[in-house]
Amino acid sequence: MLSIENISTYYNKICALNNININIREKEIIAIIGNNGAGKTTLINTITGIVNPTKGQIIFKNKNITANNTEKLVAEGIVQVPEGREIFSDLTVMENLELGAYLRFKREGKEKVRETIENVFMLFPLLKIRQKQLAGTLSGGEQQMLAIGRGLMSKPKLMLLDEPSLGLAPLVVEEVFNTILKLNKEGTTFLIVEQNAYTALSYSHRAYVLELGKIVLQGKSKDLLNNEKVKESFLGKRKK
Ligand code: ATP
Repeated sequence: MLSIENISTYYNKICALNNININIREKEIIAIIGNNGAGKTTLINTITGIVNPTKGQIIFKNKNITANNTEKLVAEGIVQVPEGREIFSDLTVMENLELGAYLRFKREGKEKVRETIENVFMLFPLLKIRQKQLAGTLSGGEQQMLAIGRGLMSKPKLMLLDEPSLGLAPLVVEEVFNTILKLNKEGTTFLIVEQNAYTALSYSHRAYVLELGKIVLQGKSKDLLNNEKVKESFLGKRKK
């Protein structure tokens, strides 16, 4: 579905991604794990055209989407849920959701958008209760759910999530990842970058380990959970 081929991305002379190859099949949940500065955000931003690679190409459903702009990608079926969530704090929950569907209003009309809002409310009942509340007054977990809900408004085929567990209490993290599993069962494909390696590996099918811009390990997530290097680098200090 998505094929990242020989991608290198530089910030001036700093190499943030070094010849990356990643392949995502339809209906997979793929995790990218790595420490601070490994290049995780750069990877997502390179897929979504926020930064341009110096080398390589990105193919989505047989189309070359390298360096496409956000609007084109959303139209193709790719959405990004950014790190820190970046919801519009001064707008209500409902307004944030409507903005997620801005391309669909013209093409499909209000009715269809309304249906998706109802689906998002079924998935996140709390958002329905808080629909008139300003997004900035939501808790961290609720903001993450709103960010995912806003992403869902464009009916994506592939969702790119940047650190969905960041700043959330363990129980909320579980809730967010269970929602990801549910959406995946309904057909959405996911690429999730995470520092929280244990959670990311527990909820994904396959994973890649990114270190200083390079993929140093890849495989089935359940195998990586038992890999000595992964245990040593990422799981050692995990608290049960
Ligand atoms: P974190 O989890 O801390 O966000 P990350 O794995 O997402 O880390 P990136 O943010 O992609 O890592 O950063 C990869 C490398 O690129 C780092 O060395 C970082 O300092 C550098 N970098 C990132 N953004 C820029 C930028 N705008 N200008 C220059 N260097 C950058």
